[in-house]
Amino acid sequence: MNSNENDFETIDTPCPVCRSTNTKVTQKILDLPHFSELWLFNLRCSDCHFKYNDILNLSVKEPIRYIYHAENVKDYSTKIVRAANGSIRFPQIGAMIEPGPNAEGFINNIEGVLRDIQGKARLLLRDATEEEEIKRVTDFIKLIDKYIEENLPIDVIVEDPFGNSSIIPFDSSKLETIQLTLEEAEKLKTGFIIFEDIKDK
Ligand SMILES: [Zn+2]
Repeated sequence: MNSNENDFETIDTPCPVCRSTNTKVTQKILDLPHFSELWLFNLRCSDCHFKYNDILNLSVKEPIRYIYHAENVKDYSTKIVRAANGSIRFPQIGAMIEPGPNAEGFINNIEGVLRDIQGKARLLLRDATEEEEIKRVTDFIKLIDKYIEENLPIDVIVEDPFGNSSIIPFDSSKLETIQLTLEEAEKLKTGFIIFEDIKDK
């Protein structure tokens, strides 16, 4: 969350993990231009150090898919709003952020999301032992650098069965908004996998 914490309203809720009342829960409603209201929620427990962030979209409630076609430096500043049940895919590089029980909400721009994925790939690299895997992950890390440095055309797909995740486009003509049927929404992944596939490039 990159909002100023002073703007947040504080409420009292016991910690969901240890039941301590030494928890700080802050919430805020963001009203963004060309966009619906977002409810930001943050909980921190000073006893067990549990923390949780999430985002709810106060207007959209339907399963939805957004696709943004980024092709220049300004497009890379397009913001991704990811709620805990949302997924983010970059088909050109075969990277995906999936929802899961420990998933959290965040707002970040395309470049920032790619850097986060790159950071997770670096963690994979640290634990990698096989030469083939080390090469594959190293190539993937370099590929992300190339996309960010050269602002190569990249599609970002955001899907959310509850319509809480979204894209705040730099250029709204490059954004596709697709209402999903319930059948399509049921097929959305809810697993733990971060990388669906690291392609050889
Ligand atoms: Zn706690």
